[in-house]
Amino acid sequence: MSTILIIEDEPRIAGFVAKGLKSAGFASHRTASGVEGAVLAVQGDFDLVVLDIGLPDIDGFEVLERIRGQGVSVPVILLTARSSVADRVAGLESGADDYMPKPFSFEELLARIRLRLRSEAAPAWGDPTHLTHNGLTLDLRTRRASVGDRTVDLSAREFALAETFLRNPGQVLSREQLLSNVWGFDFDPGSNVVDVYVRYLRGKLGRERFETVRGMGYRLV
Ligand code: CA
Repeated sequence: MSTILIIEDEPRIAGFVAKGLKSAGFASHRTASGVEGAVLAVQGDFDLVVLDIGLPDIDGFEVLERIRGQGVSVPVILLTARSSVADRVAGLESGADDYMPKPFSFEELLARIRLRLRSEAAPAWGDPTHLTHNGLTLDLRTRRASVGDRTVDLSAREFALAETFLRNPGQVLSREQLLSNVWGFDFDPGSNVVDVYVRYLRGKLGRERFETVRGMGYRLV
């Protein structure tokens, strides 16, 4: 699961962004302070930063300089009411990845966040079309799985579930997270469909890959 840092002093906007992120399946952390935000962005384990330009202590450009000055390349999307070309250029020159003029709809921001997370994730995996972990490979174009040299047929749901595990290797994923990611939020949270599908994946890809973490969920090992 990706975690987003929101550096925004306007409670209404910070709240609206945090709420939207939550329902889109992201975790988030909020701060109204530029100084604190810069420290968190450098030290914290965030996948992306949403950064307002107008902040009460130091402005968003200064925050960005502090982040980039520490050699941290976390993607940053700037929010600002000032949609002037000069601000946009200054933002991108100081190392922002994208720019979102206020007012914006949450869907617009979410689309940019998803785009940035995807382009960020690609280089780490080397090849954006394949996910690999411990001998298990998913080809995202052909939607096929392979274990070593053996090709394994997966149903669409099985593939989506396997993909969620491979995007979060070593992390404990709760049933709720897996449900919302693979089946969507409208699925009955009391359902045991996750357990059933993990069993299918174990049968096809190897029992030992998917560890049960009692009372918490599952982990790809
Ligand atoms: Ca502000």
